[in-house]
Amino acid sequence: MKNNGRFIKRAMVIGGGIAGISASIDIGNAGYEVVLVEKLPSIGGRMLQLSETFPTLDCAQCTLTPKTVETGQHPHIKLLTYSEVDEVKGKAGDFTVRVRRKAAYVDWEKCNGCGLCQEKCPSKKPSEFDRAMGLGKAIYTLSPQAVPNKPVINPSNCRYFLEKKCRVCEKVCPVGAIDYEQQDRFVEEKVGAIIAAVGFDLMPKETFGEYGYGVIPDVIDGLAFERLNSASGPTTGEIKRPSDGNIPKEVVFIQCTGSRDPERYMPYCSRVCCMYTAKHARLYKHKVHDGQAYIFYMDIRSTGKGYEEFIQQGMEEEGILYLRGRVSRIFRDDGKIVVWGVDTLTGKKVEISADMVVLATAIQPQGEAKGLAQKLGINTDDYGFFTEAERKLRPVETNIEGIYIAGCAQGPKDIADAVAHANASASKVQGLFAKH
Ligand SMILES: Cc1cc2nc3c(=O)[nH]c(=O)nc-3n(C[C@H](O)[C@H](O)[C@H](O)COP(=O)(O)OP(=O)(O)OC[C@H]3O[C@@H](n4cnc5c(N)ncnc54)[C@H](O)[C@@H]3O)c2cc1C
Repeated sequence: MKNNGRFIKRAMVIGGGIAGISASIDIGNAGYEVVLVEKLPSIGGRMLQLSETFPTLDCAQCTLTPKTVETGQHPHIKLLTYSEVDEVKGKAGDFTVRVRRKAAYVDWEKCNGCGLCQEKCPSKKPSEFDRAMGLGKAIYTLSPQAVPNKPVINPSNCRYFLEKKCRVCEKVCPVGAIDYEQQDRFVEEKVGAIIAAVGFDLMPKETFGEYGYGVIPDVIDGLAFERLNSASGPTTGEIKRPSDGNIPKEVVFIQCTGSRDPERYMPYCSRVCCMYTAKHARLYKHKVHDGQAYIFYMDIRSTGKGYEEFIQQGMEEEGILYLRGRVSRIFRDDGKIVVWGVDTLTGKKVEISADMVVLATAIQPQGEAKGLAQKLGINTDDYGFFTEAERKLRPVETNIEGIYIAGCAQGPKDIADAVAHANASASKVQGLFAKH
């Protein structure tokens, strides 16, 4: 730790998505120690759930895994996964952060990551990571390339915790790492600067209760489509309807579901939906050559480098049908999903008898973001996104000296912008350390 007098030149990054990872690597490479706190068992964030990424259509894991591995092996990065910030005290140069290390019921010091426990676990419950389309085990890692590659037990899915039976994982573990008695514990970290990079969630079905979302099984959200399309997902990458496993021949994608709707939902634009919907429709066409993809849109926002070309390619070369207008109703009819809408360019009503519907639901702040903001003393906007000190000129600083923000925790962003934002906050931390 570089420590000049009382100013602690050591940073904490909260949130191990691509933004938190990028900031941690930058600060670590500058020679400062970083404590990276991630609430899930492993790092990677939402990018772990993606199949391919726009605008290049390269495999998300191929881009992400080298970064997660680098983070896991970095001599200056201390990973505290399955952990959450409990309390923050102090000021720039001298923060004391109490971190809750959640009980994994596995002794990670002993665990060698062999995977036997997951293989043999008899419990099979809908997997949150796969957006409830596939089954997961009670003892699990988030992905085969998880960093760290250590499992946790979810007590609400585990037969031992629920019925006091089973203990299969304990029996098969070759190193005796299962510990059903493990408790949450607390550690204290002293740091001089903090970056909050806790990312986003999609608007849940409890909030967006339209279009059959959460009721019709073949009406899914964008992250569910990513899982369907992923080789590591519930269908090993084949696009199949969740309800019956059939290949959907007509798929309707609907943008701005819950975004840009000030009267009922969020007034803001979620920024990535135009692009990821085009990506989804293109990936669908790559796999289901005789399938038809329709996209309902309000207008198309493709302002990144190469983004407009990406969309045009989908329209011109892959036969994706864009319909400008809103959908009024979606209902089930004899195994099909009927979509009623209006094409505002022709003024005609549209009715599509679809096999599957994919909703680009609004990006909103992470559930616990407001609580974390209170602990940190930083401001949030009307929706709960972290607020920057000044919109144009201080986009990564906050109202508290020594606390910075990065990625989608500040507002919706694509990966390139989340990384650039994280790079900026990391350089602010280095600047702060250099001054003292
Ligand atoms: C369906 C879909 C498809 C997309 N496709 C693309 C694409 O093709 N190309 C592209 O450029 N972008 C795409 N994006 C956008 C991309 O997902 C984001 O830009 C990126 O994930 C942002 O990274 P982040 O680190 O800011 O947030 P996240 O990825 O959300 O990471 C945040 C991390 O913080 C952790 N965390 C949350 N709360 C806490 C807490 N209290 N304490 C500790 N840790 C916490 C989370 O578990 C998570 O690991 C897509 C988005 C969606 C929804």
